[in-house]
Amino acid sequence: MALLELENVDAFYGRVQALHGVSMKVEEGEIVALLGSNGAGKSTTLKTISGLLRPQRGSVTLGGKSIGGLPAHAVARLGVGHVPEGRRIFKSLTVLENLKMGAYPCSPAQRASAFKENLDYVFDLFPRLKERRNQRGGTLSGGEQQMLAIGRALMMNPRILLLDEPSMGLAPLLVDQILDCIVELNQKKGLTILLVEQNANQALRIASRGYILQVGSIVLEGTAHELRSDENVRKTYLGEE
Ligand code: ATP
Repeated sequence: MALLELENVDAFYGRVQALHGVSMKVEEGEIVALLGSNGAGKSTTLKTISGLLRPQRGSVTLGGKSIGGLPAHAVARLGVGHVPEGRRIFKSLTVLENLKMGAYPCSPAQRASAFKENLDYVFDLFPRLKERRNQRGGTLSGGEQQMLAIGRALMMNPRILLLDEPSMGLAPLLVDQILDCIVELNQKKGLTILLVEQNANQALRIASRGYILQVGSIVLEGTAHELRSDENVRKTYLGEE
């Protein structure tokens, strides 16, 4: 059974349909890339998984249990960590306070028992955050803010991490650093990852499989190798002639 599965999901903003029968799955331990151009519906797919948007039709399951339509805090408690586009950290709070906010969806008992362990885990992964734990979020560099956004989602020890364009707006060197952290999270900690990217080159470098969204529908799926060798993908998403 896949860890995360979407079957025939339709989602709307008001009367405008943004997802049309989206089906995809992520197996335990995988990094899967969700690719597509601007406005294709990538963020909408993540929001529909994490409970920020209600699927109008179709099913979303986590470990075989239906999570479609549950409120976001319930989905978070069940083990879905969502790192939204644009990072959305609390700029006036310190690094440590931001990380504490990440533990908020846990039940009080979970929070008390796992807080220290999860904090050590995040500081171990991102030593920069440890160094800057008393600094306000807004004073961090773009790369550090991305680390903080990921760290915050890790504070409730998720089963799967949904990452929305973690490379956006970062200098190439920092993009490499963030991607290396994602690989480390996956390989060393065994975390399952669904990675949304417009930067298909980067995403397919670390993902084992991928899906391509176009105007709210999945138009292609395959292994990273298959997608990289597809002529249309090369032209449209990898910028090759
Ligand atoms: P981007 O990389 O630009 O974020 P995306 O693939 O993540 O692209 P979505 O943000 O999921 O795309 O948007 C999918 C469609 O839904 C677009 O047509 C967009 O205009 C529309 N949309 C997104 N958010 C809203 C909203 N809050 N209200 C109405 N329409 C929206």
